[in-house]
Amino acid sequence: MLKQFKADLHIHTCLSPCSDWDMSPKKIIRRSLDKGLDLIAICDHNTAENVGAVMKAGKDQGLWVLPGIEICSKEEVHILALFDELDTTLTMQDYVYANLTGNNKPEVFGYQIVANEHDEVLGENPRLLIGATQLGIYDIVEKTHSLGGLSLSSHVDRTAYGVIGQLGFIPSDLKIDGVEVSYRVSLDKAGDEVAGIGKFPCTTASDAHFLDDIGKVWTVFVIAQPSIDEIQRALRGKDGRRIMI
Ligand SMILES: [Zn+2]
Ligand SMILES: [Zn+2]
Repeated sequence: MLKQFKADLHIHTCLSPCSDWDMSPKKIIRRSLDKGLDLIAICDHNTAENVGAVMKAGKDQGLWVLPGIEICSKEEVHILALFDELDTTLTMQDYVYANLTGNNKPEVFGYQIVANEHDEVLGENPRLLIGATQLGIYDIVEKTHSLGGLSLSSHVDRTAYGVIGQLGFIPSDLKIDGVEVSYRVSLDKAGDEVAGIGKFPCTTASDAHFLDDIGKVWTVFVIAQPSIDEIQRALRGKDGRRIMI
């Protein structure tokens, strides 16, 4: 049976240097439930080290959490990689870490807090998570798919770190599953308002860096259960699965 899932598939935690300290696992879950969300995805910059904690916190409170990473390509394009399983996400993280150099300067870029599901601080991540990886956009999409994941091009309407802002267009042979527009564009008008995304399935998400951003915008997926396969089918409009506009 198909159900509607109100989903915000792009939320950062306190591990992202540009995120608020309040973006801790329990607080993210509490705010997501307050906003009536059924499904969220955690996507920190170039890391998934807080994903497991948010998944556990979500399980405790009855909110479904998909694991993910927002990867910065060498072209400085942000691409979301979402998965079903934490283990697969950590395999993707290994691939990202192997192609990410530099150390964080917390006083310049911000603190990168690793937390557990009880909102206790476990430590800081020393890597330059805000940096660009040495991975091209094609490498990221291909690796995501080889691990069974979903690949979405982040905030395509934004100049900074959006694929169109960085490259001028979306390469037609880039095998992304869809694009994400920011809160600045309404989902029903996105195809008209953002040049060059017409042929791609379109989603929207908050890209929350602060608690108040969570659920600012969302996408309703009509799917059987929250899984990458079901979301992919919804993006393609297959088997009755769809995105409600
Ligand atoms: Zn981004
Ligand atoms: Zn983001």
